[in-house]
Amino acid sequence: MPQDVIYKTPEQIEKMRRAGGLVHEALRRCRAACRPGVTTAEINAEAQRVIDETPGAVGLFKNYPAPSPRTPAFPAVTCISINEEVVHGIPGDRVIREGDLVSVDCGIRIDGWCGDSATTIMVGNVSAEDRRLCEVTEHVLRIAIENIRPGRRWSQVAQRMQDYAERAGMGVVRDFVGHGIGQSMHESPKVPNFVSDDLLRHDILLKPGLVLAVEPMCCLGTDRVKVLKDGWTVVTADKKAAAHYEHTIAVTDSGCTVLTDGSDGKNG
Ligand code: MG
Ligand code: MG
Repeated sequence: MPQDVIYKTPEQIEKMRRAGGLVHEALRRCRAACRPGVTTAEINAEAQRVIDETPGAVGLFKNYPAPSPRTPAFPAVTCISINEEVVHGIPGDRVIREGDLVSVDCGIRIDGWCGDSATTIMVGNVSAEDRRLCEVTEHVLRIAIENIRPGRRWSQVAQRMQDYAERAGMGVVRDFVGHGIGQSMHESPKVPNFVSDDLLRHDILLKPGLVLAVEPMCCLGTDRVKVLKDGWTVVTADKKAAAHYEHTIAVTDSGCTVLTDGSDGKNG
């Protein structure tokens, strides 16, 4: 299966950084609002406010078509997934509790370019194993950032990510993967957090201008997942906790630059 990758110019990547900065700000406000007693709808409203305050900004998740024709389109600008929920949780009247792991994912387009990022928030005193799950998953994303450079193949990066997670005893979700991103949120190629025969057959050569949304999802138990009756929410099959971290990352001449960390990209 050939994958038509769209490479971006440095000017286009700077436009993506603007979108990424908005996503960073949305997630920052969601984090500040995320405490016991608050509903997931209230957390989502913080991201909605960032979009509403910014002329031209569009939330990419709202009205996103469902995988199944019987399921309504996604109704919010964030996905909020708690504890055993991995991704695609729908914000609503669920109340955050002490000890929850709250994964917030947000995508925004502005001036025609997209940013996509996610983070897992530890609410108050979380269990030691949940804390370790978050630390390992965030470090898996860090491994990607430290290893993306032109000339490498994605499988080399994914192998390091997978090895780190699995040696730490965590499952790496197989059913959902990262993706290319640009003027559309989801572009080629698919960006798995693990190595498969399929990846090795269709490996991705990292070249300047390639922009990827890298998004490791790790879990304390099985990597098998299922979708709840709402048609959206993905949970672990064994109901053990999951964590999800994502950045939009552009390959540069010398390495890579993260577009969704709120920085201007000038410091390395
Ligand atoms: Mg995302
Ligand atoms: Mg994504």
